[in-house]
Amino acid sequence: MNEKEVIDAENRLMANVFGKRQIVITKGKAATLWDINGKEYVDCMGSYGVALLGHCHPKVVAAIQQQAEQLICCHASLYNDRRSEFLQKLTSITPKGLDKAFLSNSGAESVECAIKLARKYSGKPEIIAMMGAFHGKTMGALSATWDKKYREPFQPLVPEFIHVPPDNLDKVKEAISEKTAAVLLEPIRGEGGVRVPPDGYLQGLRELCTEKGVLLIFDEVQTSFGRTGKLFGCQNWDVTPDIMTLAKPFAGGLPIGITVAKENIMAALKVGEHSTTFSGGPLVCAAGCAAIDALIEENLTEQAATKGKYFKTQLESLQAKHGIIKEVRGLGLMLGMELRFDVYNIVQKCAKNGVLILDAGRNVLRFLPPIPITKEQIDKAIVVLDAVLEEEEHARANQGNPVPN
Ligand SMILES: *Cc1c(COP(=O)(O)O)cnc(C)c1O
Repeated sequence: MNEKEVIDAENRLMANVFGKRQIVITKGKAATLWDINGKEYVDCMGSYGVALLGHCHPKVVAAIQQQAEQLICCHASLYNDRRSEFLQKLTSITPKGLDKAFLSNSGAESVECAIKLARKYSGKPEIIAMMGAFHGKTMGALSATWDKKYREPFQPLVPEFIHVPPDNLDKVKEAISEKTAAVLLEPIRGEGGVRVPPDGYLQGLRELCTEKGVLLIFDEVQTSFGRTGKLFGCQNWDVTPDIMTLAKPFAGGLPIGITVAKENIMAALKVGEHSTTFSGGPLVCAAGCAAIDALIEENLTEQAATKGKYFKTQLESLQAKHGIIKEVRGLGLMLGMELRFDVYNIVQKCAKNGVLILDAGRNVLRFLPPIPITKEQIDKAIVVLDAVLEEEEHARANQGNPVPN
């Protein structure tokens, strides 16, 4: 198939729910992607955070190849060596106390499990989530997600979800009632614009939840696996939740969702009360084992911290040059750049020039590159972004459409 045939068939046959870039990707290695014409890209999208280890990490590739010849599926009503191994590796890195896991297939599913678990354990219905939060798009997870463009067409959603302003302890305190099962939040909001909480906030929330007997759930689907310079985002502030949701990069690129909880909490779910057919399949678990091994053996968490610092400094140097940049923020290799206008054109132009970047809301560029990204690739991304911002500033000035303040 050529480029046009690929695009035409997807457009014709696939539900039209993804905002598409007109690029056909056929190959990847580390932080580099190639399209069907052989053009090379620096990947700062990282498949929305999935490709944190780098595309086609050799350990993951080898593990998948070996396991594919041995056993691909095995329902969790039977025991399996790879699943057992993965659970041991997983709980050897999760924060202390979070050592009972439910395995599923996506971030949204990991949140569904957390919601059901919180209701079952507490016997209470209400979940407090944050304005600006993103937790996925299945009905339960969607009920915790904030953006009304995702929610409104599908109402009524699951009852007893309320949203409070983020980064504000008093608002959570006011909202907690007799009915509250849990407070659910991302330690750093991803989709919501790469928002790092103020120091003290997560600790305060931990203390408040403990005091009120309310469960604290961290959605670490985007902030875990070394991304922020710590294995888990919450470790930047030394705070441990009662329940944590994981997904995107945990199986080296294969679909996985994980809900981990304290043992006495997870014990609230009895046989049959929650399950999924694919839970902990051997192929996914083999990839997950290799992914965790690579993360530890190659010191990728430290690399994310170092490379993230460099990348952020370079982005800040652009801020000094371009008035259209409002703020640079983030931790490790989870970075955001807020502009004073819509980023759509910037994203498209950077892609044309070989650099793939995400957005996070209308005005924010989001960078979620694989950890193996090289200094040269970061430099290239900066050079391209610099030129594209320059061009945009000129275009706006010439149109008599200066940048708003
Ligand atoms: C991506 C994401 C989800 C949803 O994960 P899916 O695999 O797309 O269902 C949930 N929470 C956070 C914080 C995410 O970034």
